[in-house]
Amino acid sequence: MIIKAVLLFLVVIGLLGMTGRFTRSKPQDRRGPEIQSARKCPKCGTYLVGSSPCVCGYDRDA
Ligand SMILES: [Zn+2]
Repeated sequence: MIIKAVLLFLVVIGLLGMTGRFTRSKPQDRRGPEIQSARKCPKCGTYLVGSSPCVCGYDRDA
């Protein structure tokens, strides 16, 4: 009877350890998308959206 109690105790501890490890590993996978830094035109200072050139005529690729 004592052996059965010890085995049951070990099984319970094992299950608790597995569930604890499983729940702890989840928050690490949660990562938000990287926030892109705001890009401004070096000529007039207007905020630029995407890769389009500025309305003032400045083109960073030119
Ligand atoms: Zn500009």
